[in-house]
Amino acid sequence: MLELRNISKSYKMGENIVHALHGISLTILEGDYVAIMGPSGSGKSTLMHIMGLLDIPSVGSYKIYGKEVSRFSEDDLAVLRRETIGFIFQQFNLLPRITAYENVTLPLLYSKNRAGNEYARQLLERMGIASRSFHRPNELSGGQQQRVAIARSLINKPKIIFADEPTGNLDSVSEKEILSILKELNDQGITVIIVTHEEEVGLQAKRLIRMRDGEIQSDVRLKPRLSETPVSQQLIHQNISRPFSIVREGFEYFNQGLKTLLANKIRTGLSMLGILIGVAAVIAMLAIGKGAQRAINAQLSSLGSNLLVLRSGARRVGGVAQETGITSRLNYSDAQYLKNQLDIIKDSSANVHGHGQVTFQNKNWSTQINGGNASYLNIHALYPLAGRFFTEVENQKRVRVVVIGRTIVRELFGSINPIGELIKINKVNFQVIGILPEKGATGFYDQDDVVLVPVLTAMYRLLGKEYVDSIDLEITDSKQIDFAHQKIIDIINTRHHVSDKFKQSAFEIRNMADIQEAVSESSKTMSLLLSAIAGISLVVGGIGIMNIMLVSVTERTREIGLRKAMGARRWDILAQFLTESIVVSSVGGLVGIFLGWSASIVISTFSGWTTFISISSVLLSFFFSAAVGVIFGIYPARKASLLHPIEALRHE
Ligand code: ADP
Ligand code: MG
Repeated sequence: MLELRNISKSYKMGENIVHALHGISLTILEGDYVAIMGPSGSGKSTLMHIMGLLDIPSVGSYKIYGKEVSRFSEDDLAVLRRETIGFIFQQFNLLPRITAYENVTLPLLYSKNRAGNEYARQLLERMGIASRSFHRPNELSGGQQQRVAIARSLINKPKIIFADEPTGNLDSVSEKEILSILKELNDQGITVIIVTHEEEVGLQAKRLIRMRDGEIQSDVRLKPRLSETPVSQQLIHQNISRPFSIVREGFEYFNQGLKTLLANKIRTGLSMLGILIGVAAVIAMLAIGKGAQRAINAQLSSLGSNLLVLRSGARRVGGVAQETGITSRLNYSDAQYLKNQLDIIKDSSANVHGHGQVTFQNKNWSTQINGGNASYLNIHALYPLAGRFFTEVENQKRVRVVVIGRTIVRELFGSINPIGELIKINKVNFQVIGILPEKGATGFYDQDDVVLVPVLTAMYRLLGKEYVDSIDLEITDSKQIDFAHQKIIDIINTRHHVSDKFKQSAFEIRNMADIQEAVSESSKTMSLLLSAIAGISLVVGGIGIMNIMLVSVTERTREIGLRKAMGARRWDILAQFLTESIVVSSVGGLVGIFLGWSASIVISTFSGWTTFISISSVLLSFFFSAAVGVIFGIYPARKASLLHPIEALRHE
């Protein structure tokens, strides 16, 4: 069954070469119970590791079931190990954070033998520790722990059990129990190979091999071996590649990852922090940005797509801006003139804009002053919440009346009803006749922080302007907008005697589509900026995760060795650690999304800004945080997967 020919193993220790094994030749047959004895450093463990496929010889040939081991890849060896071999160690090597039962079923993760869960219960029963199944290793005595370890080594129904000083850490009562279990296993046909220091343990075996300085000193048969053991020769060929289910494995790794991470709550929490803060900030900022954009768009579209705004333009010659000339300024009368000239203009309003101080009693507020015709009401759909809008007659008479926004009401009047009250705008008395409907704030711009007065009053009594700043033109049919655009330019150019040179640039018209475009353009820049911040914070978060995973790999080196001994392939270890880093990063991402979402709600309730969380920003954040887990988890996971099983097991 096991056939060693001239096996040697040497280690390089700096300059020196340590020869752990010298030309060992040995054959072990099925059903035997072999004890290997010898002083410390004589090569017993090395020999066992080679026979147990955990290590490969430097020189020589080793055949297991007639197959030459040196032809196997590391992963093939892992598969062979988990199908044929069970290990029992002196230090038990149970995983401390999971229960006895979970320790016993651990190898099933790699063998994918689902029928084994019930078998695990039977094994614990057989080992006499069923009542301890749901205790953790540190709640068990040494003898009990070793029995858990034996149950674990049996879970995949191995043909051979290797035990390296299994009683070395046990009291004499426990030692007797463990030895009787091993004998019982051997009676049932399992080949047992045990390394021991103790003479009486060695004498229990059927065959006793003594070693010294890497060589076999003596090899004695003490009892006859069970010869009629029914071991299938086809064993090696079966199960090398079982059907593989990503979902089931993924779930299993996810479970384990979660457990490990929960065992280290503070550390896990801290390593999530970077990702969490980054994602939360991005979600909150995007919510504000998107909210602002939506509010602006909603307002722009409520104004209708048939609003044109005419302004005087910068004069350009060959693309270079010239000084704005007098001829290109808009007059108050231009508004009415355009309306009269063009049938498709439904309404027009001449507008001026300015800033000023408004005062009521002892209160003071700096605000935006807009002037317009009475038609401004319909063009901008500003039906007053209370009171009324000013009339065209009042405009003509330059009456000092004002319609005020909600912010002015709040800042100056508090609970007083403002209608009919007198306020001062830039030290001029005005009577409040109405309150504007609420428009809300978008980002830093508060649209309710405004006072609206008749345009002629504004020009001649308040701002001292001879000209108007813009003219709003409402077109009857939005399909005519391009036609209207050109017509208006022609008419206004003619009226102002604009020379050919400046015909394209003396006046400019903006429509809502242009403004919407400008808004979305600026929000694109904003998004780009946010993405850069998000990118940086995710990288920082990722480095944090990588750091913690590297610590974790070092800390759990023995565990990795153990898992490999139980048949984990490189991919299994890689997947395990990768899952952990993905769990950390995506949980961080999820919490970040939740926090960012809460923050945006808090911000919108306290500031009154519109916020909006888009599904795409949530999905994108989650996707990116998970991706960070993959990218920054790969290196530590790969490092773990490349560890040599024996070196990992020897790690302190
Ligand atoms: P035993 O189990 O009989 O006490 P081992 O098989 O553990 O002995 O070790 C045999 C020899 O090989 C010892 O001299 C030991 O120092 C050496 N040795 C074992 N493993 C390594 C290693 N990874 N690197 C260097 N030397 C090693
Ligand atoms: Mg040893």
